[in-house]
Amino acid sequence: MAASTSTITGQREAELLATVPTGLLIAGSWRAAASGKTFDVEDPSTGKTLLTLADAGAEDAAAALDAAVAAQQEWARTAPRERGEILRRAFELVTARAEDFALLMTLEMGKPLTEARGEVTYGAEFLRWFSEESVRSFGRYSMSPDGKSRLLVNKKPVGPCLLITPWNFPLAMATRKIAPAVAAGCTMVLKPANLTPLTSQLFAAVMQEAGLPDGVLNVISTTTAGDTTGNLIQDPRLRKLSFTGSTEVGRRLLSDASKNVLRTSMELGGNAPFLVFEDADLDAAVEGAMAAKLRNMGEACTAANRFIVHESVAQEFGSRFAERMKAMTTGRGTEPDTKVGPLIDAKSRDKVDALVQDALSAGATAVTGGSPVDGDGYFYQPTVLTGVPEGARILAEEIFGPVAPIVTFATEEEAVRLANNTEYGLVAYVFTKDLNRGLRMGEKLETGMMGLNAGVISNAAAPFGGVKQSGLGREGGLEGIEEYLYTQYIGIADPYAS
Ligand code: NAP
Repeated sequence: MAASTSTITGQREAELLATVPTGLLIAGSWRAAASGKTFDVEDPSTGKTLLTLADAGAEDAAAALDAAVAAQQEWARTAPRERGEILRRAFELVTARAEDFALLMTLEMGKPLTEARGEVTYGAEFLRWFSEESVRSFGRYSMSPDGKSRLLVNKKPVGPCLLITPWNFPLAMATRKIAPAVAAGCTMVLKPANLTPLTSQLFAAVMQEAGLPDGVLNVISTTTAGDTTGNLIQDPRLRKLSFTGSTEVGRRLLSDASKNVLRTSMELGGNAPFLVFEDADLDAAVEGAMAAKLRNMGEACTAANRFIVHESVAQEFGSRFAERMKAMTTGRGTEPDTKVGPLIDAKSRDKVDALVQDALSAGATAVTGGSPVDGDGYFYQPTVLTGVPEGARILAEEIFGPVAPIVTFATEEEAVRLANNTEYGLVAYVFTKDLNRGLRMGEKLETGMMGLNAGVISNAAAPFGGVKQSGLGREGGLEGIEEYLYTQYIGIADPYAS
């Protein structure tokens, strides 16, 4: 008897899950937590358990840092080309297993399979990009201005790093940190988010298969993030903290990191403005809005959070955008028709709804959507709100859901004021056919990144990061490896003096 599609999917899922290591990776071995504790990882579209993992505690974290410290010296001396080749092999392995990684992310995070495939391509690209960058960390040798000495400037790995990643892009947020750290010659302790640790677990196994020496990458999945990593941040052997997550947690970690004056990279929250000027190509603006809003169900730091639209085109833009949003099918990410998956958990869905209800009670109108979807999973209707008053919470906070509030402006000056009226400064999107205005916006907007007539700009070859309370440092691009290197200067006496 032929199996039904859902049985085949179920079998395929079970086979894939059986390949995911469930232990902690410490010094090259997968092991149980010292406490023997475990935790369940669930599928947000069904609420069912996918896999049970070892739950690390402070003792395991200390063992992971011991392993990273023990491996550091030899790893730093490994030839850059060899480190690059490991990354290149990892790129090939992830690419060969693209469907596995995509399905795993869909299962644990909920995003539609097509989006998960996109993340595999994006996440793998950091491995390829930094495999190429690993051989390009150059220093310099020069004569001092007075000619009396020589200046030798060298780049060295910062040393053992703690990498903390969020749940929304389970592969890309890990490779964006691990790849430059490997390229630079740093060892690592990775702590993935407890909601979506499976992709990191599988990826770590792939890094082992690619030839990464034992102890270079250690993985401690845990449900007690603060207690487990707290001592590591205070440990003088740790040299760097790279964190991606909320501004609230980032602020706390920065304060903790100040004790040992740790090097830090902080990729924090966003509140991206999406500006549509009166001369914009509205087809392109609506297309860009769909991508900037619905990518990852809106659960992205780069998600457009506020649509700031010129009053002369607001009506048309709003109704075209709402029509497209209304046509989006919500469902389990593995279903072929699904365009919008569930939110990550009940708490996130309730927060999105609270922001929407607050805006509605402040006078906004829901042109489409406006409430959670009944039934299993944590789904929310794709929503467009118009007439959102300036003081509404939804304009000040990260929505992290498929909800688009629209406000209007009359002058360029007003648009800039509204866009910059936030503590965040990660990314902005600008739609205009006037190139000068586009460039002017680049100068006036207080963000680390800007999309000009583009709704998605993430690229491994570009420096990703924010200003203001969206963070410190850059990931990707030529800048990404610098986060894992420090500059050493050696002053040399005049070689002609004797
Ligand atoms: P989060 O709650 O701040 O958590 C991020 C990571 O920090 C998770 O691994 C979390 O572990 C861990 N964590 C939480 N409290 C901690 C503590 N006291 N000590 C050490 N680690 C701690 O953020 P999230 O909800 O996972 O992710 C969403 C946020 O990330 C949004 O604000 C989004 O904008 C931001 N983000 C920023 C970027 C960027 O590049 N700028 C990219 C993606 C996401 P557990 O989850 O296991 O508790």
